[in-house]
Amino acid sequence: MKRDDLIHPFISGNKWRKLQGIVRDAQKSRATALVTFGGAWSNHLLATACVGAQLGIKTVGFVRGETVSNAVLTICSLYGMELIFVSRQDYQDKRALFQDFQERQSQAYFIDEGGYSIHALSGVGTVVEEINENAYDHLFCACGTGTTLAGLSKAIHQRRDNIQLHGVPVLKGGDGLTTQIKNLYPDAAYQWHPEYSFGGYAKTKPELLTFIKSFCAQTGILIEPVYTGKLCYAVVDLIKKEVILPHERVLILHTGGLTGLLGMHTHFPA
Ligand SMILES: *Cc1c(COP(=O)(O)O)cnc(C)c1O
Repeated sequence: MKRDDLIHPFISGNKWRKLQGIVRDAQKSRATALVTFGGAWSNHLLATACVGAQLGIKTVGFVRGETVSNAVLTICSLYGMELIFVSRQDYQDKRALFQDFQERQSQAYFIDEGGYSIHALSGVGTVVEEINENAYDHLFCACGTGTTLAGLSKAIHQRRDNIQLHGVPVLKGGDGLTTQIKNLYPDAAYQWHPEYSFGGYAKTKPELLTFIKSFCAQTGILIEPVYTGKLCYAVVDLIKKEVILPHERVLILHTGGLTGLLGMHTHFPA
């Protein structure tokens, strides 16, 4: 397992990697504020808030849905992010929200939900640079926007590595995602495993929760139900089904996201 969950105690590893190139682009365009979007438990909002605090750039987070407070939004506020709650309907048109904001601050920089951006690919690619060439047969990652998968695929091609990339979409019917991935990197090549979404984004099932409990207890590595739990479940199941063979070397990318657990204690009664 590649432990990108260890990059930071609160920041999802892949969100941190994605933001590297995005922030570089924002700085090039002399942005004075990073404006982005997410749900109330968004790992991406949290990562953006942290990066903004580190670099001294104002951050603004549009949060989908009614005003709430929770652990993730509290940390976002501590990092100085301005939180603006918008209805699910208004949230649909992110560009319109951004343009309204620009009237307040013209040098604002738009960052799409989840850090979906062509500028995110180079940062994600550093994952591949950090592993030895041809050291693994398979590389697995969880997919939300598909940006991480696109970045990994690009870096694998650039290096001509023989590793086989696999994506496990955590949303239902990840078909729309394949277009989204192609838009970031047209040559993206990967095996796709849509049968492990467990009913959709942030949806779960008893067998997933049971799996997560035993995985954490057996390995000492925390995973959570939204991303890495589904990912690890998929890998173990593919090994059971002998799609992955005993002699093959598998690397799982742990993308972090553990703050999500903080809102899920009712899923895991003691
Ligand atoms: C956002 C996120 C993902 C999904 O990454 P994409 O690049 O959007 O596909 C995977 N794992 C964790 C923990 C995340 O926070």
